[in-house]
Amino acid sequence: MDRGLSRRQVIAAARTLALGAILAPVSAPIAQPRRFRDDPFTLGVASGEPASDGFVIWTRFAPDPLNGGGLPPEAVPVQWEIATDERMRTVLQKGSATAHPELAHSVHVEVVGLEPDRPYWYRFTAGGQASPIGRSRTFPGRGAPADRLRLAWASCQHYGAGHFTPYRHLAADEIDLVLHLGDYVYAYARDDQVRPHPANAVTLEEYRNLHALYRTDADLQAAHAAFPWAVTWDDNDVENDYAGEHSAYAASTADFVRQRAAAYQAYYEHMPLRPGALQADGGVRLHRTLQFGDLAQLTLLDNRQFRDDQPCQTATKKAGRIVHDCAERLSGDRTMLGWEQEASLFGHLREPTGHWRVIAQQQLMASTVARDRAGRETAWSDGWDGYAATRDRLFGLIEDVRLDNVVVLSGDVHQYWATELRRDFMADGAPALATEFVTTSITSPTSDWPKHFRDRPYVSFVDWRYRGYARAEITPQQWRTDFRAVRSVSEPTAEAFTLASFTVDSGKAGAQAT
Ligand code: FE
Ligand code: CA
Repeated sequence: MDRGLSRRQVIAAARTLALGAILAPVSAPIAQPRRFRDDPFTLGVASGEPASDGFVIWTRFAPDPLNGGGLPPEAVPVQWEIATDERMRTVLQKGSATAHPELAHSVHVEVVGLEPDRPYWYRFTAGGQASPIGRSRTFPGRGAPADRLRLAWASCQHYGAGHFTPYRHLAADEIDLVLHLGDYVYAYARDDQVRPHPANAVTLEEYRNLHALYRTDADLQAAHAAFPWAVTWDDNDVENDYAGEHSAYAASTADFVRQRAAAYQAYYEHMPLRPGALQADGGVRLHRTLQFGDLAQLTLLDNRQFRDDQPCQTATKKAGRIVHDCAERLSGDRTMLGWEQEASLFGHLREPTGHWRVIAQQQLMASTVARDRAGRETAWSDGWDGYAATRDRLFGLIEDVRLDNVVVLSGDVHQYWATELRRDFMADGAPALATEFVTTSITSPTSDWPKHFRDRPYVSFVDWRYRGYARAEITPQQWRTDFRAVRSVSEPTAEAFTLASFTVDSGKAGAQAT
């Protein structure tokens, strides 16, 4: 049997099954506006993808959020409003939309025609019920003068591992954009949980209920309602350590392609993404660039959907692992981003626009390659060291174009790191090409393995003790990062504090402790 052909056919069949419902919503005719007996806005509201003339607003009708949503399979009409004040007194725009059962009664409205660089408020109404009011904002237009941008970034929030207390503190900050860098949900339970969490998700229904559980959290809802977000995913949003269409656990590629499509669809349904983000082939387009006036170009990457499988795997070792003397990890034929995304990123970096170049992505970009006692080289196969050629091409471009204000924002490792990104991490005195700031997890636990790397010359800071988030205040002259930690996530009332702060001066890569 031609296994290759057979595999392709099976995958194509799996895709068709998963996609029929999404691409051609076939909901029953819109019912008369229903009156909801129970609050349908249990998952709150969100906004995202801020542009100079608008943003996306989101909600999902789910009167019974943990059990499929609780609505019959019919379309629900919904109204939305945009106002210039927090009490919704001066309404600038109104519109109607339809929540389709094929998309879990989620609503994604792309609002346009607004003024640049100002706050707006929004809400939804349906069947005699009004949603909470959310606040969003537009960005200054491309090239328009902008003197300050305030970012926050977060990652890795296992709901069972702790309370989302960092988000309560984040919601009280003044932030222009929140970046989520992946592991928004985890499709497995832990044995050290402080809150109940479902076991493995595989089906669309299970991924929907998983997202809904996370979104019932009041602190997470508050952070979504307070600021626009731009999100990208990592492995656990689907399954630990998956790579492209390769799973370390699924019985077959066809099974995993079906599971991945379910996870991708549920992710789209619960995020304030543009309606066009959900692709005809079952993918979700997450690599994109946002522009904040003349101050910053923000590029989000998707390190999971298009990556090659981890290097130096064996028939029994398919997850991320420490590999020894693995030459495959250096191969120039391998890609972490997929060739199309890599070309798109490099194209954006070549554009003469934006004072700071922000690359928001999932994983620690600085190297953790080391030597074991036997003198063998060791590398973590699931991280950037497993895809070293992609990183090297990026660093080569930064050198060639002489980009001197690149800041990489990362997550995944559940630790705070500040690093200097260098063409050759091991060479003494190699110049810093860019600065990296890694946020810790919101709740997910870690261990003390970074202690082996903290004395390296390119590691400016590392701390594994705290959960929290990171924020930055960016001006043309200087970047400032605060690592905002909470003392505990096993009880819900911990205070937040600034664990460490760093500045980066314009034109000089590298984090300076303040
Ligand atoms: Fe994680
Ligand atoms: Ca992983």
